[in-house]
Amino acid sequence: QMAQMLNYMCDELELLEEKRRKFVSDASHELKTPMAGIKLICDSLVAAENPDPAMVKEFLGDMSDEVDRLTRIVERLLVLTKLDAGGNSLKLEEVDIKMLISQVVKKLTPIANAKDIVIYVDNHQTEFSPILLDYDKMYEAIYNIADNAIKYSPEGGFVHIDLTADNDCLTIKIEDNGPGIPEGERDRIFERFYRLDDSRARDTGGTGLGLAITKEAVLMHNGTIDVANVSDIGSVFTIRLPYKITIGGQNEK
Ligand code: ADP
Repeated sequence: QMAQMLNYMCDELELLEEKRRKFVSDASHELKTPMAGIKLICDSLVAAENPDPAMVKEFLGDMSDEVDRLTRIVERLLVLTKLDAGGNSLKLEEVDIKMLISQVVKKLTPIANAKDIVIYVDNHQTEFSPILLDYDKMYEAIYNIADNAIKYSPEGGFVHIDLTADNDCLTIKIEDNGPGIPEGERDRIFERFYRLDDSRARDTGGTGLGLAITKEAVLMHNGTIDVANVSDIGSVFTIRLPYKITIGGQNEK
């Protein structure tokens, strides 16, 4: 029996190691792309004789965009690394969920306005019991989903956030009228670096890490997340968070 257990542990370790290797390799690949872009621009500037100042300005602008992209990837990798540290790193506090959602909406309103998208929030109760959450981690988790909802919806579209609660759990639904997500891809989009349509995601400046961060944060709170399509327009992401959370010895209402 001891041998069996050791075997099992070895398999688990090997799986973890394989995952880690894939993560490092994917991350390196993602970082290489913008770096190659920067290198190319530098080289052509160095090679150009008497370059036109307008062209130089344009190239520097492109370079700045690539640096922004690198920064975004590195920032998100750091967030993921922190989440990997596990449940003990949760800073739990009693959170007013309506307040958290309104902060997310406030932050996203300018981006939504620029695309003529309306964000509306439905609170099915006037009061929600305070819920124990790590405010910053859950803010980021919900922000990522709402940000995607805006990013992948067409101009003039909508984002609908819906809050409900029962005794055990709080449910947050975020619906959009973007292209929706094909059934076979609904698990994969939560994987690190996974994007549905590479070129489209690149146009929107996506890193493919947002949903991985969201999922990890939700799981750390003992919650669940899933996605479905709404009839034939758009997708709806559903986050469920239990009022009772059991993490690293903390067990409270
Ligand atoms: P990204 O930074 O590329 O948006 P995410 O991890 O946030 O990365 O999302 C992964 C992929 O899932 C996206 O590239 C996109 O293809 C798809 N996706 C996420 N949210 C939506 C949505 N609301 N509608 C359609 N597709 C989506």
